[in-house]
Amino acid sequence: METVAVILAAGSGSRTGLSTPKQFLPLGGKTVLEHSVQTFHNHPGIDEAVIVTAHEFIDKVKDMVKANNWAKVTAVLPGGKERFDSSLAAVRHYADKPDTVMLFHDAARPLVSERIITDTLKAMETFNAVDVAIPAVDTIVQCNKEGTYMTSIQDRSLLWRMQTPQGFRQKTIQKAYHIALKDPGFTATDDCGTVLRYLPQEKVGIVRGSERNVKLTYADDLALLEFLLSRPER
Ligand code: C5P
Repeated sequence: METVAVILAAGSGSRTGLSTPKQFLPLGGKTVLEHSVQTFHNHPGIDEAVIVTAHEFIDKVKDMVKANNWAKVTAVLPGGKERFDSSLAAVRHYADKPDTVMLFHDAARPLVSERIITDTLKAMETFNAVDVAIPAVDTIVQCNKEGTYMTSIQDRSLLWRMQTPQGFRQKTIQKAYHIALKDPGFTATDDCGTVLRYLPQEKVGIVRGSERNVKLTYADDLALLEFLLSRPER
């Protein structure tokens, strides 16, 4: 099985309130993006990697690839406005390799572990689509759009929080997006959601993630990530 890691690093990171996009912020002597790429690069089950970033950062990321000697990184692709546009850039890049297993990872989750990647690849032997997730510890409530009152509370024992990587056979994710893009109401914040909605016959497997696999979203998350980085996984 040919495997490719797709590192999604084309977001603007506006929620951090900082001028630098979150994937380029420093963490333990490297950038957040370097941590994410390095873990996939080191993994023996990953054959190659592509990094998706915004047009203006393509040269910066190419320099980073050279400086780190990332021989597995075969392309730095321009991303798009929404996360799914960036995923689509990678899906299209592999259009002639339908059986390739693609693991899409948020560059903003720099503490992804070797164990998570191994388990995701293993699950891809059973499923055409897989998500890394952890059980919800908080009770999750649905609210009105403005977030001013509750509309329902779901059964917590059935709720999981989605992380990345999310793994797909290229032909599966390509087909899901092919259908989705014909839907005028289509929006997505992740790729598994697109498969779940537009290929309902496809079972999306779940791989146990980790509380350490935090997504850098707000500026304060950097302090949490620094702390976690200083304490190796037990
Ligand atoms: O915005 P969000 O936190 O969901 O972003 C998750 C990941 O997707 C980040 O690593 C971000 O750089 C990436 N992304 C992207 N292209 C976009 C938006 C987000 O590659 N248009």
